[in-house]
Amino acid sequence: MKIMKTKTIALVAHDNRKQDLMEWVEYNYKHLIPHQLVCTGTTGKLVKATLEKNLTGKEKINFDITMLKSGPLGGDQQLGAMISEGKIDMVIFLWDPMEQQPHDVDVKALLRITVLYNVPTASNRSTADYLITSSLFNSNYKPVLKDYSTYIKRELK
Ligand code: PGA
Repeated sequence: MKIMKTKTIALVAHDNRKQDLMEWVEYNYKHLIPHQLVCTGTTGKLVKATLEKNLTGKEKINFDITMLKSGPLGGDQQLGAMISEGKIDMVIFLWDPMEQQPHDVDVKALLRITVLYNVPTASNRSTADYLITSSLFNSNYKPVLKDYSTYIKRELK
């Protein structure tokens, strides 16, 4: 699996972190628009509104966001499935460290799958800043993937 110059970037934020993410999107929108964006439902609506506020006419026409279901309604699981299919290159997921979520198990599963597939993931704004300003952000990159073939071929008694 290779991360191409044009990336598919997932943007997700819990309710208490949505403002943080929108500020980050507003600040970085010029870096984001050349890429494909995938969002969970409510985050996606806000990202769309934030981008539309900033984009010029032509940019607006060329711009599209893949909207998944709202996180608690299965959106995190949809995103996890996309990661396992190699369809996501980067995840910006501002999750809430102060409040339990109805879908905590889905959040945990999503974070686990990002590690499993070695997907660059930011859980806070400073890490997101580092990712978006990395020289790798605008180049091709091949993440090292662990070899799970021994696990797949293991003998079961
Ligand atoms: P939301 O979901 O964007 O629909 O609010 C966020 C989440 O995954 O918890």
